[in-house]
Amino acid sequence: MSLAERASRDKALAAAARTVDACRLCAIGGTRTHSVFGEGDPLARLLCVGEGPGETEDRLGRPFVGRAGELLEKMLAAIGLAREDVYIANTVKCRPTLDNGHRLANRAPTPDEMKNCRPYLDAQIELLRPRVILALGAPAAKSFMGERFSITKQRGQWFDGPLGIPVIATFHPAYILRQTGGAMTEVKRLVFADLKAVRQRLDEPPAEETPAAVEQRSLFD
Ligand code: URA
Repeated sequence: MSLAERASRDKALAAAARTVDACRLCAIGGTRTHSVFGEGDPLARLLCVGEGPGETEDRLGRPFVGRAGELLEKMLAAIGLAREDVYIANTVKCRPTLDNGHRLANRAPTPDEMKNCRPYLDAQIELLRPRVILALGAPAAKSFMGERFSITKQRGQWFDGPLGIPVIATFHPAYILRQTGGAMTEVKRLVFADLKAVRQRLDEPPAEETPAAVEQRSLFD
């Protein structure tokens, strides 16, 4: 894709990020330090979608920069992708917190918060048009596949996502980090299988790129 396309997507994403930053539809819009729009290659073929920003993400305004982010980078590296090669976003763009008296603690986003934030994620998908969406953890997976989705039973399977983009879910890196011993080994094995399915899908020629089309393009490029 061309430099002009990259520049135009960058511009549109920056405008969407400003809209998100001004959003106060949810109360967490008033308690967060920074909104966390998402970041990455505007031409990325893979869009990773997590649940929502945690404390470090809120402080820095960037997705997946804490311990879970470090593991996500290792997961991507296992299939030959650098963080910079993909786009990383979340189902909600503000850190969901509860005030326990002395400090703000992380919590899962509420259905209302996910609903309010959904148009922003949809706008990102529309702009990026990735080849594959990887949902990280049950909340992100359910936001695409519906409430009945079971991460333990249905991770690693392909579903039709927004705009017909294939979506696959795997365990959230924070969940992997909470496992110990044999359980961690087993979860990592499953996650690696899911990641290999992503790699395989990315390596397939796009639907419109039949061998004849590729040959024709190389003749006239
Ligand atoms: N967990 C998420 O789901 N998203 C982040 O950005 C960081 C941790």
